Amino acid sequence: MKFPKEINAYCPFCKAHTVHKVKLASKGRASSLSAGNVRHKRRLSGHGSKRKGEKSVKKQGKRNKIVLQCPKCSKKHERVIGTRTTKKLELKS
Ligand SMILES: [Zn+2]
Repeated sequence: MKFPKEINAYCPFCKAHTVHKVKLASKGRASSLSAGNVRHKRRLSGHGSKRKGEKSVKKQGKRNKIVLQCPKCSKKHERVIGTRTTKKLELKS
């Protein structure tokens, strides 16, 4: 999926439309020893019953997210574009 490098979008901080810079949003690496992760792993261990956070169905494709940066206030906000796509998001040059 291709997406332009600049789009005219609404900035919630300036409360106006400006030409925003588009960047791909990247998910940070999950730390494996954080309290929440350790608790989650412990709950998944053992037998039986339905457990929260265990996926039974794998979804086809991902919902791509972009980061929009306003040139006026240089603040960033995120936006999910389109529906689930199997192809990676590319920025048009
Ligand atoms: Zn702004």
